[in-house]
Amino acid sequence: MRVILNKTFYYCKKDISVALHLTAQTQLSTQTPKSMSTIKNLIRPNIQKMTAYSSARSEFKGKAHIFLDANENPFDTDLNRYPDPLQWKVKEEIGKWKNIEVQSIFLGNGSDEVIDLLIRIFCEPREDAIMILPPTYGMYQVSAAISDVEVQEVLLTNDYQLDITAILEAVQPNTKLLFVCSPNNPTGNSFNLKAIEELVEGFEGIVVVDEAYIDFAGQASCVNLLKEYKNLVVTQTFSKAWGLAGIRLGMAFAAKEIIDVLNKVKPPYNVNQLTQNAALEALQNVERYEWERANILQQRNFLKEELMGFDFVKKVFPSDANFLLVRVKEAQELYDYLTSKGIIVRNRSKVVLCEGCLRFTVGTEEENLELLEALRIYTEN
Ligand code: PMP
Repeated sequence: MRVILNKTFYYCKKDISVALHLTAQTQLSTQTPKSMSTIKNLIRPNIQKMTAYSSARSEFKGKAHIFLDANENPFDTDLNRYPDPLQWKVKEEIGKWKNIEVQSIFLGNGSDEVIDLLIRIFCEPREDAIMILPPTYGMYQVSAAISDVEVQEVLLTNDYQLDITAILEAVQPNTKLLFVCSPNNPTGNSFNLKAIEELVEGFEGIVVVDEAYIDFAGQASCVNLLKEYKNLVVTQTFSKAWGLAGIRLGMAFAAKEIIDVLNKVKPPYNVNQLTQNAALEALQNVERYEWERANILQQRNFLKEELMGFDFVKKVFPSDANFLLVRVKEAQELYDYLTSKGIIVRNRSKVVLCEGCLRFTVGTEEENLELLEALRIYTEN
């Protein structure tokens, strides 16, 4: 329990504007809304105060033909210059594709970088906390641990849904970020958009909706909620449906206030030139993305049907992603068997609410057929 003197409390709802002035000595119970609820006030004071590094490439904005400002090697290799620190061309293409203005887009070295930056921007080490909803993606916890930030957990329900009441009740005065992974890894399901909206509306910190798998989902992105809510960040990635995990390119969509601060704290050249080139090339070829996405979806259905036919499969969970969570009779034994056949899946059987589960990424048709053949041989032994 914390005692706060002479503080102005902002009550953060849709327009984040209603201020409650609490001037007497105020005791915050664990249920009390956080004191700092405008976006600005949620940012760590040192981040608010600091001046961003100004790189040579970001200082000069006009046209020139001789660049003697960045201590680069002048001999042209196509890569001898520093890349655009704000990746404007890539953002323009993404903006056109998603119908989002470039000022609302941030690009990171994978969406993992975005997760890490958000924790460093909003969470004071040893003071603030993030909230996660297990079973979920592991990097929220890892990034928080690196920053010495507390992790509060509220489990999903037994059928992997959001427990809105429990989540909002568990929020503490120090809870700055709430990570909602939808479609969720490793369960594969998306959360109802209305339920996510309730969290954005009810939580006074920042809700980060991780949509790494949204391209495979049957429902709309939370990007559509950004016009209404300033305390929302939506992350997506080129690592999944775009088939570009190797280039490390993640996206964040949010209000300009949040994008500005992400730009302020990121390493100046966090997205390298090769990555920017590869993304621009991929964005010129949306047909390839569409074809692969459709193929993976079709293979997901095929794999699901086939897996359900095996005796050792207890349940194939519904998936809005490019993987299937499967509860089997002997998870470790099956995992070891597949490994011995050179087929690696993810053993999630020790993860809370995923007891006895393996996670199968949807492969190519050939890979899936080989997996199914190996499983047939497994059942015969
Ligand atoms: N979010 C989720 C839910 C993921 O599963 C992953 C990667 N497996 C990421 C984010 C990280 O993606 P990126 O490759 O963009 O860092």
